[in-house]
Amino acid sequence: MDGPIDYGRYDRGRYCNYWTLDGTIQRELRRIYPDEEFEWAAPRLERFGRVVGHTIADNADSVDRHGPELHTYDRNGEVSNYVEYPTELRETERLAYEAGAVADSFRPPPGRETPLSYSHYFGMLYLLSYAETSGFVCPLAMTAGAAHVLERFDDGSLAEYYDALTSRRHDELIEGAMFLTEKQGGSDVGANETTAEYDAETDYWRLTGEKWFCSNIDAEGTLALARTPGAPDGTAGLSMFLVPHGDPDAGVMTRARREAFDGPPPAAALNDQYYRRLKDKLGTTNVPTGEVEFRETSAYLVGEEERGFKQMAEMLNLERLSNAAAACGIMGRALLESKIHAANREAFGQPIEKFPLVRADLVDMAVDHEVATASTFEAVRYFASRERARRVEEGTVEAAPAVAPERAYRMMRLLAPVVKLRTARMAIETTSYAMELRGGDGYVNDFVTNRLLRDAQVLPIWEGTENVLSLDVLRALEREAAHEAFAEVVDEQLRRVSHPALIDARELVEAEYHDLLGAMAELAQADEEFAQLSAKRLAHYIFDVFTSALLLAQAEEELEAGNGRLALVARRFVTRELAEREARGITSNDRFALEQFDPIVRFAPVDPDALDTPTK
Ligand SMILES: Cc1cc2nc3c(=O)[nH]c(=O)nc-3n(C[C@H](O)[C@H](O)[C@H](O)COP(=O)(O)OP(=O)(O)OC[C@H]3O[C@@H](n4cnc5c(N)ncnc54)[C@H](O)[C@@H]3O)c2cc1C
Repeated sequence: MDGPIDYGRYDRGRYCNYWTLDGTIQRELRRIYPDEEFEWAAPRLERFGRVVGHTIADNADSVDRHGPELHTYDRNGEVSNYVEYPTELRETERLAYEAGAVADSFRPPPGRETPLSYSHYFGMLYLLSYAETSGFVCPLAMTAGAAHVLERFDDGSLAEYYDALTSRRHDELIEGAMFLTEKQGGSDVGANETTAEYDAETDYWRLTGEKWFCSNIDAEGTLALARTPGAPDGTAGLSMFLVPHGDPDAGVMTRARREAFDGPPPAAALNDQYYRRLKDKLGTTNVPTGEVEFRETSAYLVGEEERGFKQMAEMLNLERLSNAAAACGIMGRALLESKIHAANREAFGQPIEKFPLVRADLVDMAVDHEVATASTFEAVRYFASRERARRVEEGTVEAAPAVAPERAYRMMRLLAPVVKLRTARMAIETTSYAMELRGGDGYVNDFVTNRLLRDAQVLPIWEGTENVLSLDVLRALEREAAHEAFAEVVDEQLRRVSHPALIDARELVEAEYHDLLGAMAELAQADEEFAQLSAKRLAHYIFDVFTSALLLAQAEEELEAGNGRLALVARRFVTRELAEREARGITSNDRFALEQFDPIVRFAPVDPDALDTPTK
């Protein structure tokens, strides 16, 4: 990208290419893909960015107005569990799956001998989130998650389901879902009461119980947790099952098989369960979320009995990173809409982007988007490295991972909850301000800002609330000794930083990093009550220090390559989050947002020699 981008050329963040307009995701994916894979995948990302910016963006708005509908009974009074989907949603589904958004990371795409890394899936999901802000993104992420679980834990007996989950052909496709939450417990999954009994006559397990929040309710590849007879209480007693939507005796109910029925499939073609109702939600209208009663429902055991929660944790890692990638994509869209509006809307005789306060807000929104995306895709890099190491061991890919598996696992384990919780919060802030920047129109459904905010609001809730994730950070430190890997990584990153324009910021981060290590050590000794009380602050502190070091190391590389833009982004973030400023900086005469508006907001390149080299 040569920049600066003239956002005044556009009249809204639509009918454009979300890949070519987003220098941030281009930089991050180039950084984390294996080199050869990036060159190969870039044209696919470019094509997908265009499709999302056109057809999928239009479809998403339309489905938001008329979402999926549930018909519980058919006209003869038989249970029908029929979800009627708008044709626009089916079109979006076809476009996304056939573009390889899931398949490419699991099976060799045409023209290649091995699948792409998991990073590609997260990159495609990010682009999709520019339009499908937490709607259809949810089923897509659960399809990838279910495939991930089967790849890791199934002994091959569910191969038909795996093949359908990873299909790039729409007619052969099925989607995934995950049913954990019950009325008495979402965060407290160990409180699950659904039971599973083996039926020797049919060789199926029979599930009985109620699930309270079931997104993508009629998925054919649903993974659910249930307790087998005699299993212990709590999470240790949970097993994982695959619950088909269709009658499993008839084989996998692919899209083609569903469409072969004229209208709703007859009750005899369905599994024995009952979809009570769909939730009437604030947003995420594009995904049907409902309540399900299992009534001796046929199911297959996945992996080993009583290993369900551990297996589900692997899916949750992927879902939490998907949540973070979606948050970054939503922020990207909100930012794009805001930049375009600010360049075009006039008030008091000039475009509103000329006003100092608007400039400062846009600079900070852009910095937040950079920070969220860099940290999320670094976590994705660790996740993808670990999975690549596994695939190398299994002989399905050859090229070695970028990071050794043990470090990759510990870093992913720490960063998945940290980036999920922080990016979710940032997405709400960014979409809320994007709405305000549009003025009164922003609050009206004719404009996409309304949906962006409604959809973003789910991000801190599903896949674990901010509190629950903060407690998970404590567990990662205690059980996986994640702080050891963290300390090594931050040390290495800071050691790479030597450019005079970054030295002050590096010193600030170093000081905070040592304080953070001290805080981690103290909390490890603290009583449980106090450790929990501090967990959220600790998670955010980890985010700030980790991301600062990461950005500085990346900025150093970019400076060596001749561009100082990221150095400005890194300095802004470090100053904003870590520096102590007298009178909150009001008297500092800091005009950063005015002077650096073009590089940060419009991607104008920055000559490294033109950067000042501040000293404290
Ligand atoms: C649109 C939508 C779709 C969803 N889809 C699915 C789905 O497909 N599958 C699925 O399984 N679930 C789904 N969920 C459910 C979601 O994952 C849960 O709602 C969430 O995990 C919280 O659980 P809960 O609702 O039982 O709240 P609770 O667990 O009752 O939590 C209530 C509050 O207490 C806090 N809290 C709980 N425990 C602690 C603790 N130990 N320390 C501090 N604070 C605590 C929480 O942070 C929260 O603020 C969906 C939810 C929504 C909104």
